[in-house]
Amino acid sequence: MTPAATLLNWYRRNGRNLPWRRTRDPYRILISEIMLQQTQVDRVKEFYRRWLKTFPTWKNLAEASNADVIHAWAGLGYNRRALALRDIARHIVQAGVPQSEEAWLRLKGIGPYTAAALSAFAQKKRTLPIDTNIRRVLGRFLFGIPFPELKDDKRILKRTDGFLPRRGHYYDVPQALFDLAAMICTKDPNCARCPLRHTCKAANKFLSGRVNIPKRSTPAPQEHRHEGKKYPDRIYRGRILKLVRETGSVTIENVGKEIDPHYDVKQDHEWVHAMIERLVTDGMIKKKKNKLSL
Ligand code: SF4
Repeated sequence: MTPAATLLNWYRRNGRNLPWRRTRDPYRILISEIMLQQTQVDRVKEFYRRWLKTFPTWKNLAEASNADVIHAWAGLGYNRRALALRDIARHIVQAGVPQSEEAWLRLKGIGPYTAAALSAFAQKKRTLPIDTNIRRVLGRFLFGIPFPELKDDKRILKRTDGFLPRRGHYYDVPQALFDLAAMICTKDPNCARCPLRHTCKAANKFLSGRVNIPKRSTPAPQEHRHEGKKYPDRIYRGRILKLVRETGSVTIENVGKEIDPHYDVKQDHEWVHAMIERLVTDGMIKKKKNKLSL
């Protein structure tokens, strides 16, 4: 039996039952993929259900205003992704659903991973979306690299054709890899329980205890942080948006002390204004005189 067939057998018995796996609708699959980029699976289930209730189709989403979309995305973070989703829906309502990975990739806001995921899950194409989870499993399995990095994707992609089955449920292989990554091939993997252990190039390294498990397997992303602040700017921008969303309208002078208990007008005034300007430029909020609203 090939490793992929072994993996699929394991997946049939152990795979997670997730709502976006019970559909081939590209709209639903895109929504789930974008939500899963930033939020854990268990939390996404509820957001996904609520979103589909609010915007069940491309057309409903295409007709939504910025404010509608930002309200519906509340709690998920990275709000620009929500507006990008709405813009994709507008394009698709006009031009139709893309039919190939290349065509998905041409849409603004869709990267190589998402294009491959849509092709595999919505259109049953024989392709492999590589995210950090699939990179970890296949980098270990194919090359014995304990903690594969982005630069290893090229090598992994070259071996995709040999790894994916030619017939049957090849489009389930990525889902099976996600589940193996979540349940067994975690940062500190449980190789003794892994269905791929007999052919995995990293199994012996882990089983013999020769691998040091780092505290972080990927370096922390470099994000801008204003001097003396506890969190990166992204967190404070999120707080501004939440404040506007929840109050409906807020006076600019009040924003600083509402988003940061240590706000110091001398030191932080320009920083807060720059964040407000960025939110306005990104289409997240509107500024009229000294008031902010959605
Ligand atoms: S044998 Fe270990 S390292 Fe290899 S795929 Fe399985 S869990 Fe990951």
